[in-house]
Amino acid sequence: MEHTDLLIVGAGAAGIAAAKGAYEAGCTSITLVDRKEAMGGVLLQCAHCGFGKQLTGPEYAAQLGKAFPKDIAFVPSTTVLRVSSDKIARLSGGKQLHFHQLILATGCREIPMGALPIAGTRPKGIYTAGQLQEMVNLHQFRPEGPAVILGSGDLGLIMANHLSDQGLHVTLVEQKSSCTGMARNRVCLKKPLVSLLCGTTITEVLGEETIEGCITQTGTVLPCKTLVIAVGLRPERTLAEHLGNPPWLHLCGNCDRIHPMVETVIGQGKQAGIAAYETMRGTL
Ligand SMILES: Cc1cc2nc3c(=O)[nH]c(=O)nc-3n(C[C@H](O)[C@H](O)[C@H](O)COP(=O)(O)OP(=O)(O)OC[C@H]3O[C@@H](n4cnc5c(N)ncnc54)[C@H](O)[C@@H]3O)c2cc1C
Repeated sequence: MEHTDLLIVGAGAAGIAAAKGAYEAGCTSITLVDRKEAMGGVLLQCAHCGFGKQLTGPEYAAQLGKAFPKDIAFVPSTTVLRVSSDKIARLSGGKQLHFHQLILATGCREIPMGALPIAGTRPKGIYTAGQLQEMVNLHQFRPEGPAVILGSGDLGLIMANHLSDQGLHVTLVEQKSSCTGMARNRVCLKKPLVSLLCGTTITEVLGEETIEGCITQTGTVLPCKTLVIAVGLRPERTLAEHLGNPPWLHLCGNCDRIHPMVETVIGQGKQAGIAAYETMRGTL
């Protein structure tokens, strides 16, 4: 069985920073695995400017990848399926990899519609925000309007901006008394195609095959052909659930906690890389 001193799962901003941090600290055997073909994680689907010095997500990912040391083994298009307490990772394709230290940088999951108390069937036209962002920005999918977005946090606002740019009327529905996203994302609320409905939520979807509308808690019917669920993100730690808290396991990025800004992910990833290497050397 092959061995690596440091296995990093996830090559988003956190995993890339962790790999570089460990490498710069002196670690010479590092393997970075991602289920996607390219490094960058969620950055690759973010077409908006807002990363570092006003770069788009793909531009920022390209900058991160540029200075990536050649000595770090990057294994693309490979999913880590399971990690056991005897420090063996099972990868898709049947390969197994023994490691000394493990960094999970697996990002986050969106809260899906199924987790919400919304009545009605599940017709076509309902997406989570990240899923729709990927379809629109990477696969040229064009959703039909009008659109309703549940949740006015940053993800909801970014999608309101994208969809209104494509000419769709968008209604953001927010259960709190005001919009919850950052000021810089709130600028989309000034667009004539975007409206915000606060103090309510969606309790029912209408339509059999394709969505036709939503009903709010206050009884308002909002006709729509697209419903976007943007109610939050949860750290993705499925691989670690059964492991407890062994000293060889390190978490970073959105897998540890949800970070709204990529710079904090980079800083935390780098620290995780250094800590993993120091733990291996017995100096931590
Ligand atoms: C929609 C959105 C907009 C944002 N906008 C901004 C912004 O404007 N400005 C800003 O500074 N920050 C922004 N952020 C925040 C920041 O970009 C992210 O927090 C950061 O990029 C997350 O990095 P990550 O490495 O933790 O996770 P991710 O980028 O999600 O990377 C996780 C990686 O793990 C891989 N993976 C997961 N499980 C496995 C497995 N079992 N096996 C193999 N690979 C696996 C995934 O394929 C993925 O590549 C935004 C975040 C989102 C979601």
